[in-house]
Amino acid sequence: MLDANAREHTNSYYAASQRDKEPFATLTDDMSADVCIVGGGLSGVSTAVELAERGHDVVLLEANRIGWGASGRNGGQVIGGYGTRLTDNPEATNKQLGTGSAEKLIDMATECVDIIRERTEKYNIECDLKWGFLNVALKPREMNDLEDWMEELEAQGYPHETKMVSKEELRDYLGTDRYLGGQVDMGWGHCQVLDLAKGEARAAESLGAKIFEQSLVTEIEPGEEVVVKTDKAKVKANTVVLCGNAYLAQMAPKVAGKLSKYVLPATSYIIATEPLSDNLAKDVMPRNYAVCDQRTALDYYRLSADNRMLFGGVSNYSATAPLSITRTLRSKMLKVFPQLKDVEIDHYWGGRMGIGINRIPQLGQLHKNVYYAQAYGGHGVAPTHMSGRLIAEAISGDHSRFDIMASVTHMPFPGFGILRQSMFAAGMSFYKLKDALA
Ligand SMILES: Cc1cc2nc3c(=O)[nH]c(=O)nc-3n(C[C@H](O)[C@H](O)[C@H](O)COP(=O)(O)OP(=O)(O)OC[C@H]3O[C@@H](n4cnc5c(N)ncnc54)[C@H](O)[C@@H]3O)c2cc1C
Repeated sequence: MLDANAREHTNSYYAASQRDKEPFATLTDDMSADVCIVGGGLSGVSTAVELAERGHDVVLLEANRIGWGASGRNGGQVIGGYGTRLTDNPEATNKQLGTGSAEKLIDMATECVDIIRERTEKYNIECDLKWGFLNVALKPREMNDLEDWMEELEAQGYPHETKMVSKEELRDYLGTDRYLGGQVDMGWGHCQVLDLAKGEARAAESLGAKIFEQSLVTEIEPGEEVVVKTDKAKVKANTVVLCGNAYLAQMAPKVAGKLSKYVLPATSYIIATEPLSDNLAKDVMPRNYAVCDQRTALDYYRLSADNRMLFGGVSNYSATAPLSITRTLRSKMLKVFPQLKDVEIDHYWGGRMGIGINRIPQLGQLHKNVYYAQAYGGHGVAPTHMSGRLIAEAISGDHSRFDIMASVTHMPFPGFGILRQSMFAAGMSFYKLKDALA
């Protein structure tokens, strides 16, 4: 299921319900471009749209299918925030990254979602986009954290409706007694994320970008003109953008180079039930919002447009799949919604997300004309759109906002290969244990 050489989509609900199943061509002829993007997830396609809108001549090379990686497999939860940890202490951030940086990052936290809102409208991208999100709390400490977060949002002038809901009020939103309460955010939501990725690729294509699938980049020769090689052809480009994230090192270690030290793959899994009856759907999720709890290894879930429960969790950091994903996730789902006990599971799948040590998206340049974006953790649907915009601004000559993110210090993971992954798994187990005890 996670085979990086499987060149077609994994067996997900998204692939089964994708609106546009028409493939893009494979690169077979040498060509030149102003910018060549490697990787056709949301980082890649959003960068392509931003660059094409600015008049650049773009080629995008995807090893498998557009949205094949995390971007077409995730929970579809559209969550704001971009480098949010950097805005916890604005004074320190402004000192470290330059005056006004924290305020700009606060704006980007909302802008990344606005890009999705505006782009889907502008290019008529049908992707079942719905607004409404619930952060739910299992412990009093988490309720306090959500209250503090609400106050912070208010102080920042957050433009969307947010409110705290008590345990009793939560029954209007969720058919469960599992939580102590939660926080509603009407600026966040959910969507059919593979349709979003494919729709953005089509938008870029409509602006002149050339998109290629099943075109694995195996080597890059840096220089004034960068040569990007696949097994069949090559692209000469003035600038390259690497958007392979958690899959890049595995698929093309030579291309990933030192980037692989800064990002480790963590796997998360999702089940999709059969479509629920209207009555059952209204019982479990009367408002049809997306939901996340607050743990490190969190539950995240929502309804699809055809009333399936998409329930995700079981983050796995050790590169080994849990014995039975379906059984584990189903029992987690029934803890929240026992009323789903007779519902069949139609799909299950997993995907790899790139995690960095400090949980801040990594944006930068390997060379003057080789850019990269990676490491969004489990929170990349909206932030990838911010990265695409910042990279396009920088390539077009305005580095001011890109430089804020590119100046953040990121630590490499210690060790190498399997040892590095094991140390990371041990570290994450500590946080899971802390969640369980605190
Ligand atoms: C199961 C799961 C659930 C998640 N849920 C959510 C959620 O609900 N909300 C949220 O905000 N985030 C979520 N995330 C995180 C989010 O999906 C990612 O952060 C985001 O999609 C990353 O996008 P990306 O384009 O950087 O990487 P990816 O989508 O992984 O794309 C990388 C692409 O690069 C291609 N590639 C790699 N190497 C090469 C090469 N050498 N040549 C050509 N192509 C190459 C790959 O084939 C792949 O298609 C989830 C992630 C997972 C795995």
